Amino acid sequence: MTTNHELFQRAQQLMPGGVNSPVRAFKSVGGEPFFTARADGAYLWDVEGKRYIDYVGSWGPMIVGHNHPHVREAVERAVKNGLSYGTPCPAEVTMAETITRLIPSIDMVRMVNSGTEATMSAIRLARGATGRNLIVKFEGCYHGHGDSFLVKAGSGALTFGVPTSPGVPKANADLTLTLAYNDLDAAARLFDEHSHDIAGLIIEPVAGNMNCIPPKDGYLQGLRELCTKHGALLIFDEVMTGFRVALGGAQAYYGVTPDLTTFGKIIGGGMPVGAYGGRRDLMQQIAPAGPIYQAGTLSGNPVAMAAGLAMLELIQAPGFYDQLAARTRLLTDGLQAVADGEGVAFSTNRVGGMFGLFFTQEKVESYAQATAADAAMFNRFFHGMLERGVYLAPSAFEAGFVSSAHSEQDLADTLEAARGALRTAQT
Ligand code: PLP
Repeated sequence: MTTNHELFQRAQQLMPGGVNSPVRAFKSVGGEPFFTARADGAYLWDVEGKRYIDYVGSWGPMIVGHNHPHVREAVERAVKNGLSYGTPCPAEVTMAETITRLIPSIDMVRMVNSGTEATMSAIRLARGATGRNLIVKFEGCYHGHGDSFLVKAGSGALTFGVPTSPGVPKANADLTLTLAYNDLDAAARLFDEHSHDIAGLIIEPVAGNMNCIPPKDGYLQGLRELCTKHGALLIFDEVMTGFRVALGGAQAYYGVTPDLTTFGKIIGGGMPVGAYGGRRDLMQQIAPAGPIYQAGTLSGNPVAMAAGLAMLELIQAPGFYDQLAARTRLLTDGLQAVADGEGVAFSTNRVGGMFGLFFTQEKVESYAQATAADAAMFNRFFHGMLERGVYLAPSAFEAGFVSSAHSEQDLADTLEAARGALRTAQT
């Protein structure tokens, strides 16, 4: 039998850090990653046959659980007709119709191949449409690995202590202004200072890359007003929150209308897909309708569209999000009760099907609080859970995801594992 260790040894010789995306490598929690052989429902199985209840869900897309037959069969049907055409295909039109119906702020959409592509394209559009150069982002928010975003970034960049990456030209980074998340006064001051130069403000409407931090009441509305007042575009990066916190995304959940929105993850049903869209007058400026260039050999790929459409069908089932939110609540309330019972300083955040776990007594509303929580305790807890067959994101700075495939028994098993993991983590 090939072991996880053996595979990781080979992988490290051939791929930087042995992985194709940094956080997978377990560097911040220590130890070695497992290699997945198979995934189904709420579970992953590694190459050694060990089963894990999975709260990472391929970092978000697997909202109906892994390998859902409806999605898999849609892919199988699509594959029979060829893998890529390089011409328009009908599924792209259905996809655009579905997105614009589900997300009222989007009149027109462009499909791309990742969340990173979506956000890079959205800020190019913001700059092209406004004729301005500055972009505002938030400390601890992650928008993919585009140069403009690797400035005080979250996710792996934060996990590995390089929130601003070498290789991003200073001239480029200088065009990205950063703000503290959930501090509206700071945003107002920044906009006053740079009123005529800000092309757009991009935000994760629920931050999910510095652990999980929801916006304070009125915060997103306040940012909307600032952008409108100063002629900047409000861009919601809903790569994570889109179709996750509600069918209509965070913009529906909080009742705030952005000018542009980016998507990824769930919209591809597990295939490499992203999208950006928004008001017609803005999207009409994208090539070939307008002069702002953006393109993609595999964009709107028929197999990827089939997977995404099948996924979007499933999540429109009545009551889907109520049930998902109820399950997430069961999990976070249950974990809180277990931690309280064990006398561990602990708090949780949750919105819809995403959640955050913090080893601190405080309710976490800011980047400063998230980074001040006990990360060493998280690392011990992570390994205790992994040993007991529960896979959490291998970093204290990532949100967790519940899927509709997580049963009450899975949640109960998770809580039981947490009790044991917390006991060993304290000693
Ligand atoms: N934006 C957000 C909010 C994300 O969470 C991510 C990835 O985690 C991205 C953008 C980048 O997406 P991708 O990894 O598909 O490039």
